[in-house]
Amino acid sequence: MSENNENNNDEWKKKLNDEEFKILRMCGTERPFTGEYYSFFEPGTYFCAACGNKLFSSQTKYDSGSGWPAFYDTVGSKNVRLIEDFSLGMKRVEVRCSQCDSHLGHVFEDGPKPTGLRYCINSICLKHHKS
Ligand code: FE
Repeated sequence: MSENNENNNDEWKKKLNDEEFKILRMCGTERPFTGEYYSFFEPGTYFCAACGNKLFSSQTKYDSGSGWPAFYDTVGSKNVRLIEDFSLGMKRVEVRCSQCDSHLGHVFEDGPKPTGLRYCINSICLKHHKS
């Protein structure tokens, strides 16, 4: 874990189920190929499952083959917060919701054009809406 986001744990435990809490608030990772959205490509918008902040559009979603939802861009750079993460002996960039500071996933530089980025996001951190 790169930086403590374990604030207001009691409040979050009331709001989130155990698995959501573990991933969103304890920087966990869902098992690949198990989430709701890794092979889901309906049009719409993806919001933070913890606070409802708008995060990603289906227009930038693609199949990375990793077993997690992948996007090559966010709906806006201010909607997420990027943090250097040195856990697991790797240098990675963690992606958090800018509004509630929940962990969402990581961003890598092996994505498609035009950004070359791959936002690798846990399904459980997202809620899809059709508009
Ligand atoms: Fe949020």
